Amino acid sequence: MKIMRKEGKSIGLVPTMGYLHEGHLSLVRAAKKHNDVAVMSVFVNPLQFGPNDDLAKYPRDFKRDEEKARLAGVDVLFYPSEKEIYPSGYSTYVEVKGLGDTLCGSSRPGHFKGVTTIVAKLFGIVKPDMAYFGQKDVQQAAIIKKMTEDLNMGIEIKIMPIVREKDGLAMSSRNIYLSETERKDASILHQSLSTAESMVNQGEKDARKIIKAMELLIRQKPSVKIDYISIVDKRFLKEVSSISGEVLIALAVFIGKTRLIDNIAIDPAAVKTEKSFARKA
Ligand code: AMP
Repeated sequence: MKIMRKEGKSIGLVPTMGYLHEGHLSLVRAAKKHNDVAVMSVFVNPLQFGPNDDLAKYPRDFKRDEEKARLAGVDVLFYPSEKEIYPSGYSTYVEVKGLGDTLCGSSRPGHFKGVTTIVAKLFGIVKPDMAYFGQKDVQQAAIIKKMTEDLNMGIEIKIMPIVREKDGLAMSSRNIYLSETERKDASILHQSLSTAESMVNQGEKDARKIIKAMELLIRQKPSVKIDYISIVDKRFLKEVSSISGEVLIALAVFIGKTRLIDNIAIDPAAVKTEKSFARKA
């Protein structure tokens, strides 16, 4: 890496927790497009998992990831051990205040502190010019962007669209946990976001009404339990009661024990949405 940097090559970093899918690989393609070298990290970061989260059973398959990364054009695959990242005596943490107060931040206390800490470390190790994150984890992306700005890290953060399955389900490593029925039921998430989008496009401004309509739809699937559905302004991620500017409609649910998230960005002024593109699985 040092040599590459000395040669003046630009480096694009794609941080992941592995068990790669097309969502991850779309980030690699973007990194390849904008940089000389694409680096991917695969690290299941214990710091961002809560005591009741799925750390122990989080899917891991390095051989499979290595093959997928190679085929997608990753130049350097960084696969550190937990000890390398957090040696005994490790004691430094990075926390962004404010942006983590809503959405997943309030459902998963400490989660984003774990995320910003690992990403700051990866930035320190790889020293990329650009780093790539998915709109799927929209709050994570916003928090990381703020961290890089606030700490003058000089890294350009690129946020890429959500890659979806044919039925609209956002790709996720966690989808592997779903039973056949749960997997079918999971398409309700994207359907509920599309319903919300149509309501906004038809002029609905009342956030409560939109959330109610989404809840009614999701409740048709008994396997799906809502963690939150929230409409927040795009910049500060604060809940809005009336939609006037750019907003994010975001949700988290449990299907069985699996927690899934999804979101859509809507700009009612432009009546144009940041449509995610569906990719054939
Ligand atoms: P993860 O391995 O789940 O931590 O994700 C690593 C990166 O891939 C994060 O920046 C995610 O937002 C991004 N990502 C995960 N799923 C998708 C998806 N379906 N589409 C686009 N990006 C994704």
